[in-house]
Amino acid sequence: MAKRGFPPSKADPLAARFARAIPQAMKKTTGTDRSITSKWRPATQAVRGGTWRSEHGETSEALFLTSGYTYDNAQTVADRFAGEAEGMTYSRLQNPTVAMLEERIALMEGAEACRAQASGMAAMTTALLCQLSAGDHVVGARAAFGSCRWLLDHLLPRFGIETTVVDSADDEAWEAAIRPNTKVFFFETPANPTLDVVDLAHVCAVAKAHGITTVVDNAFATSALQRPMDFGADVVAYSATKLMDGQGRVLAGAVCASQEWIDEVLLPFQRNTGPNIAPFNAWVVLKGLETLSLRAMKQSENAVALGKAIEGRVPKMLHPGLASHPRHELATRQMTATGPIFAFDVGDRETAFRVLDALELVDISNNIGDARSLMCHPASTTHAGMTQEARDEMGVTEGLLRINVGLEDAEDVKEDLDRALGAAGL
Ligand SMILES: *Cc1c(COP(=O)(O)O)cnc(C)c1O
Repeated sequence: MAKRGFPPSKADPLAARFARAIPQAMKKTTGTDRSITSKWRPATQAVRGGTWRSEHGETSEALFLTSGYTYDNAQTVADRFAGEAEGMTYSRLQNPTVAMLEERIALMEGAEACRAQASGMAAMTTALLCQLSAGDHVVGARAAFGSCRWLLDHLLPRFGIETTVVDSADDEAWEAAIRPNTKVFFFETPANPTLDVVDLAHVCAVAKAHGITTVVDNAFATSALQRPMDFGADVVAYSATKLMDGQGRVLAGAVCASQEWIDEVLLPFQRNTGPNIAPFNAWVVLKGLETLSLRAMKQSENAVALGKAIEGRVPKMLHPGLASHPRHELATRQMTATGPIFAFDVGDRETAFRVLDALELVDISNNIGDARSLMCHPASTTHAGMTQEARDEMGVTEGLLRINVGLEDAEDVKEDLDRALGAAGL
């Protein structure tokens, strides 16, 4: 792990001790002993990893809706605050339900540690701000979720952090953008909504050679389809609202990294700024993870079938699972399946709206990762907040539609889209 991006390293040693207390407190129970759980295969970790059972031996993970904790005596709490005794102290620092989610996500990701966040954007903001200071420089992929671009284009510069965006598919561009003060590479792959695919091994190697920390937004894939750390990524950040919940219920996020980075870099920021997830939302995501791989694989299969069916009908198709995608070979190499989301261009906004308005089964919705098929027009929704120039640069055209393919019978979704395209004259 590169040291270069770190703020003063022992900024909050107390926070680091709190973090370590969580797995230790649960060690004697099921699913949190790494010497056992790390031997499990991913499907087993998704169902059982991180499970901590109370003295009641409940089958399903318990929901601990509590903000604080009580103590038998004053010395106990003093010892916990001093980091000399195991145990919880306050839900901004530790919560048993949240800790179960964090341990499960870390195991599935192949990461040493994870901290859950209130939303995907809380996770991205935390992953960046916790390690950056005025005077630093960040290189980001130009194709990104609208709010991720907002962080690069508006938030970071307000705090004196310079940013450069590059065409993420241009392998040389990453190295060319590096300056002496570059601390972080930030990108998503596949990207929202243009499905740009970044060469993880290449970009992570360039970063490593320069002591730069890579932060990968893995929301479109999740560990079920792609594990960026296997290719050298330092930090993997999530919107768990998407595929991890998978049923459109809660906002959630997570940041995975080495134990050292989580303890020394992320935790002091999180502990003192509080972007924490609610225990209820963490519990919902825990249950979602049990079926993540099944859903992600089936939805990917449905998305490839649908993409193939309409490819000849639309002027432009952006789908990493199809041979027509410029990085199809790379995508299939670094992913186990290419995910439920793809985009296609129907020419102009009027035609795009006509397609959306003609849908009978697929919902008009800007969410993704859901078990329901959902479609949206990024230029007027997820990417409406950015400048026309930025939209043009990243290929979010007026005719672009993005679809999340769900778990419905693929034939029904195909028939619905077939009818909607016909109604729009395509
Ligand atoms: C949705 C999304 C986010 C933001 O996540 P929220 O949970 O909505 O805050 C970030 N990155 C990507 C790629 C996304 O799709």
